[in-house]
Amino acid sequence: MPYPPTDDRLRHLLAQRINCHVDTWKLAFFIAGAIVDDPDIRGELNRIAAAHTSGQPCGDRNCRTCFEAATAAPATAADTEAQFGTEDCTCIPWTRKYGTPRYCGPQETVSDISGWERQADCPHHAPAEEPT
Ligand SMILES: [Zn+2]
Ligand SMILES: [Zn+2]
Repeated sequence: MPYPPTDDRLRHLLAQRINCHVDTWKLAFFIAGAIVDDPDIRGELNRIAAAHTSGQPCGDRNCRTCFEAATAAPATAADTEAQFGTEDCTCIPWTRKYGTPRYCGPQETVSDISGWERQADCPHHAPAEEPT
């Protein structure tokens, strides 16, 4: 594998963050350099990367990816359901644009749509059953 070209991205990212809290960019960049050089920190970065590569939670409490994976709700029917507005969807888009909710006109774009009224004859989106 060819050795990738080196860059200072990690150091720059750290320095940008540190720069919010110190007086000069020079100082921020110096601190960032010390951080990226630290063997313990490099070791921890490697440990996290290895855990991710093997699909294991890294256990770092700041890791958003692992936190979201651990707390994500299992997929529900709603997630796997067809999108509104696709082929043979008969549901009607509605919008709140310009005040009160009303049905969308044919010219209105997807970004104007606030929701969809489910139609009983739609093959994808049967309306929720009324509790009896
Ligand atoms: Zn992680
Ligand atoms: Zn539909």
